[in-house]
Amino acid sequence: MLFSQFSLSAPLLKALPTSITEPSRIQQLAIPAILAGQDVLALAQTGSGKTYAYGLPILQNINQQGLSGLCAVVVVPTRELAVQVTQNLIPFASALNLQLDVVCGGEAIELQIERLRTPAHLIVATPGRLLALIQQGLITCSNVQSVVLDEADRLLDMGFINDINAIIAAMPIGQRLLFSATMPIALNELATQLLSKKSVRI
Ligand code: AMP
Repeated sequence: MLFSQFSLSAPLLKALPTSITEPSRIQQLAIPAILAGQDVLALAQTGSGKTYAYGLPILQNINQQGLSGLCAVVVVPTRELAVQVTQNLIPFASALNLQLDVVCGGEAIELQIERLRTPAHLIVATPGRLLALIQQGLITCSNVQSVVLDEADRLLDMGFINDINAIIAAMPIGQRLLFSATMPIALNELATQLLSKKSVRI
């Protein structure tokens, strides 16, 4: 199978590194489901191509629907992962003229607040800082249609469950995507609580 067989727009396909032609297994299964608006629970290790698996269809959906304001949020456990995910997705967001921002602890909050004056379509964030900015009214979630919990098992291990619940509670009920390297019982419970009954399990 080739990337060009997905219903992804030409600018997105053009933004793929030339070395990447064949979608990985997780991409083959997740991209069509996410494009179709379904919730997904995916068992996916680092290196499986999970970032493109959720990032490309989310950006495509935002673009196709001509949405403005904050449309999607990717929550990750660490600052390093936030930076890595952002770097992976910047070429695709740029190709579609969509704004992407990273919001995480460790960076001066004043700088983040300044950047948020130009609202991003997609924010990649760590839980604590994201929640603080939502609670201060500096990030508005009323138009968010997709939420990703990436490395969801680590989010739980690191004790972020209360922050995650508060973040989810601040969003409208939309598409929810859980990506995780392992599937502990606590994560299964979270998936049951968050995902629609028609969710796709990969
Ligand atoms: P991830 O699992 O998202 O952390 O991706 C790990 C690395 O795999 C990234 O550097 C991607 O550029 C690369 N990658 C993503 N999808 C593919 C693919 N279909 N074929 C080869 N490499 C890929």
